[in-house]
Amino acid sequence: MSEAILSENKPETEATNNARVACDGPSFSKHPRVYLTMVDDENGKPNHVVCPYCSKTFVYTGV
Ligand SMILES: [Zn+2]
Repeated sequence: MSEAILSENKPETEATNNARVACDGPSFSKHPRVYLTMVDDENGKPNHVVCPYCSKTFVYTGV
């Protein structure tokens, strides 16, 4: 089992009340703007989504 801890480049987490979010990453990256849709939890409600480019986690906080 490997535990990689990136202390200097820790992925961000952002709370949002939108079930769809746009991410274009840090300005220095070559990250295209992507639109991400929240992954539903077992109750079919939006829960969270992780950006495949920058590993930023968006957490759904809406109702
Ligand atoms: Zn991103």
